[in-house]
Amino acid sequence: MRTKATFLKSAFAWLTIFFVLVAAPLVLALIGHQQESRGFWIEFGVGLGFVGLAMMGLQFLLTARYSKIGFPFGMDELLQFHGQAGYFAWGFIMTHFFVLLLSNTDFLEFLDPRVNFLRALALSSVIIAVTALIVLTLWREKFGLIYEWWRLSHGLLALFVVLVGTVHIMQVGFYVSELWQQVTWVGFSVIAMGLLVHNRVFRPWQMSRKPYEVISVKKEVDEIWSIVLEAKGHQGFTFRAGQFAWVTLGDTPFKLQQHPFTISSSAEKKSRIRFTIKELGDFTSEISSIKPGSGAFVEGPYGNFTLSESTATHNIFITGGIGITPAMSILNTLRDRRDTRKMTLIYGSPNREQTPFFEELKVLSAELNLQVIHVFEDAEENPEGEKGFITEKILKKYTPGNFASCEYFICGPPAMMNAVEPVISGWGVPVHKVHSERFNIV
Ligand SMILES: Cc1cc2nc3c(=O)[nH]c(=O)nc-3n(C[C@H](O)[C@H](O)[C@H](O)COP(=O)(O)OP(=O)(O)OC[C@H]3O[C@@H](n4cnc5c(N)ncnc54)[C@H](O)[C@@H]3O)c2cc1C
Repeated sequence: MRTKATFLKSAFAWLTIFFVLVAAPLVLALIGHQQESRGFWIEFGVGLGFVGLAMMGLQFLLTARYSKIGFPFGMDELLQFHGQAGYFAWGFIMTHFFVLLLSNTDFLEFLDPRVNFLRALALSSVIIAVTALIVLTLWREKFGLIYEWWRLSHGLLALFVVLVGTVHIMQVGFYVSELWQQVTWVGFSVIAMGLLVHNRVFRPWQMSRKPYEVISVKKEVDEIWSIVLEAKGHQGFTFRAGQFAWVTLGDTPFKLQQHPFTISSSAEKKSRIRFTIKELGDFTSEISSIKPGSGAFVEGPYGNFTLSESTATHNIFITGGIGITPAMSILNTLRDRRDTRKMTLIYGSPNREQTPFFEELKVLSAELNLQVIHVFEDAEENPEGEKGFITEKILKKYTPGNFASCEYFICGPPAMMNAVEPVISGWGVPVHKVHSERFNIV
């Protein structure tokens, strides 16, 4: 059961483990170390290098898609944390570099090809690689780099930094004189590499053994399509309503194109799953041309945007646009389970014509203890709900006075999320009762 205490306890435990692992190389370096100190600034600079490299290595764990890693946070929160940690890792590695050069110019020889060509090449490439990781993430679109190539280069550049960083530590040797210390550092790099291989090779291989077939592709509204997949020769997979999966379309799962989409169908139907997809870029714009009978692969399920642990008697969904998909899965599941809990859905969309699932929601509200409020942005009048954007006034109107007794599920475009989240937390609703999911992870 998700209570405030269990949420805070797991959040605290998770962060503690993360920071202990980040600091571990410092402890490792000092165990049994007998050489004389080279002065504060040099030791400080070296320490930053250790911490930066540990953070880089841990990035592979954060993005390894293990559902236990990151609990109690959602995958999107974990990836945002990964992004922030990446900036810190870059900061630590660059400061390591500058602090050492400024505290003793002899260190310049590390970059001098006349002294050691390979070492100079490797270390200057690391500085370029670690900076490229940040620059390409921040300005990917400006560089015209498509997401899939960015993602591949991101993994490879990070691996390069970790491997060269480890070799650098070995070569300097000041803090890794013992064999067990060397083995630990090599083990650390091997694990980072192993996680990447696991993600890119082992997981697709696992998926290849459980293929899916596209059963139908249906237009919901302009630019939004539902695609139904059926498990071929297996039972499908068990998921909790509201979770998402990584989808690859075509005959092989060994592809760069793998995208996360939330399952919009009932968790009671394991072998036939529906994804509802809005056209956005190169991949999603091709969904309409997918032919029934073609192949698909599904990796998952992932995410914590689920009702499973909610004990609230009233759950409130606040969604916008394509952010309706997890709510659709939850509502369809509750209908299949004959669950009579009280639900309110406040759903923002441009207008009636551009609202996916308008009819399906009507049917669901007749079958469930569900009130659906449509908030139409463009409509002059909206007899079926509200018009404009989802504001605090609208939220208050449809939420019972005892705000903290409800549980909230927020999913929609960034502008909506940024407007709604502070309102809900401003009502004093405890953090474990507010579930947010963002579809833009980078
Ligand atoms: C947890 C989660 C659940 C989602 N659920 C849905 C859903 O139910 N319906 C829906 O329409 N969309 C959903 N999305 C968004 C969907 O993944 C992107 O719209 C889609 O991947 C865009 O791909 P593209 O090539 O068409 O667009 P692009 O123009 O290439 O990408 C646009 C943006 O989408 C994101 N993106 C693109 N490719 C990937 C990728 N391979 N992995 C991760 N992010 C990527 C990036 O933020 C990128 O900047 C979800 C995203 C996440 C993170």
